[in-house]
Amino acid sequence: MVQSPNLLPTAELQARDAAHHMHPFTHGAELGKKGARIITSADGCWLTDSDGNRILDAMAGLWCVNIGYGRQELVDAAARQMQELPFYNTFFQTTHVPVIELAERLAQLAPGDLNHVFFASSGSEANDTNLRMVRTYWEMKGQPSKKAIISRWNAYHGSSVGSGSLGGMKGMHAQGGMPIPDIHHIDQPNWWSEGGDMTPEEFGIERAQQLEAKIKELGADNVAAFIAEPVQGAGGVIVPPDSYWPEIQRICDKYDILLIADEVICGFGRTGNWFGSQTMNIKPHIMTIAKGLSSGYLPIGGSIVCDEVAEVIGSGEFNHGYTYSGHPVACAVALENLRLLEEEQIIDTVRTETAPYLKEKFESLTDHPMVGEAKIVGMMGSIALTPDKATRAAFASEAGTVGYICRERCFSNNLIMRHVGDRMIISPPLVISKGEIDTLIERALLSLDEAMAEVEKQGLM
Ligand code: PMP
Repeated sequence: MVQSPNLLPTAELQARDAAHHMHPFTHGAELGKKGARIITSADGCWLTDSDGNRILDAMAGLWCVNIGYGRQELVDAAARQMQELPFYNTFFQTTHVPVIELAERLAQLAPGDLNHVFFASSGSEANDTNLRMVRTYWEMKGQPSKKAIISRWNAYHGSSVGSGSLGGMKGMHAQGGMPIPDIHHIDQPNWWSEGGDMTPEEFGIERAQQLEAKIKELGADNVAAFIAEPVQGAGGVIVPPDSYWPEIQRICDKYDILLIADEVICGFGRTGNWFGSQTMNIKPHIMTIAKGLSSGYLPIGGSIVCDEVAEVIGSGEFNHGYTYSGHPVACAVALENLRLLEEEQIIDTVRTETAPYLKEKFESLTDHPMVGEAKIVGMMGSIALTPDKATRAAFASEAGTVGYICRERCFSNNLIMRHVGDRMIISPPLVISKGEIDTLIERALLSLDEAMAEVEKQGLM
């Protein structure tokens, strides 16, 4: 951890930030009043801010720092590659060693015949690739009417016009002319909020069968693909009922619909296996990857594509690509990250030791009077805040009010948890230790107590 000795006062940095920096997913006026939190360094699972606070990062940045902060090996890999070849493109029949090695490594790690990689710099870009690739695939196969892509409300697939359209965030669709045509959404498998009187298993089937109904409505000849996160992340870590994915898989197979698994969060160990598709036992034709691929140290993403789709796409020219597709430095860092994940058996440790330990502790949060369900797979989990567990009631206040109060209490207790509506979510670095898990749970409980006191004071429950 390197803390700058010349750090300027927090208030001055905040004022300069507010004057010139436009933040993603941030209410500008509110930020101007409050000032941004300034993170200055990090190590393992811990952040340091400009006031010297040590903060436990239970979100791994934005779900991405799987290997933890401060790994010198990744710094060295980047420096070596920058000296040797800082950039060359992969267009027009050109390649370089880091991209060759990374594509090969990903083909080894990915399940089944997912053997080909198209690189991008982010999850959004990769999903834009997927959108064009699946439509182009069907066109090249002589079925140009297969254009529609089915996704889910409250899914998150990125923030570009294409990937934001694939996502099902209504607040995003409301800004800037989304969704683009021929993207359709079905309901999400969120039993806690939407399951009514059904059992989780009944509800999982009901939600999966919405896919079949949508395919019939559009006509299977018009549907190119279904896209989904194995476990919804930004939508609030919604773990589907066990009945859900087998039924989705059955439907995709029956109607000859390509299945795209968006592994941007679930990939690279987050669910206790290399990919969420393995944990959920699904067989996608394409997997979207980003985030944990480089543990966030450099921007890189991509699409891992099955033999059949890659063969068809490769039979002609796919007029698509990004300047930084297969950026050599990002590839070198990703390769080193994958090497460390494997050699240090980080994912095995998650699956066999730390995730089961976290699960037990995390599920015990339901003993708290304001916590309804706790759902967790590997190292991604969420709790539903509620005024009444028995009826799974929502708070009378606008959705997110109580979640925001709770998140602010976490921040003041030096714990980063995020809120999605009135769900609180975690996604810590995979290297989190049992001792750090204890700290996480202690701070979460303290924050829940404080939040509940505030919620009662404001008459919200
Ligand atoms: N897909 C999923 C499932 C994601 O969670 C995200 C980002 N949170 C994206 C795509 C978009 O990735 P990026 O922000 O790198 O464009």
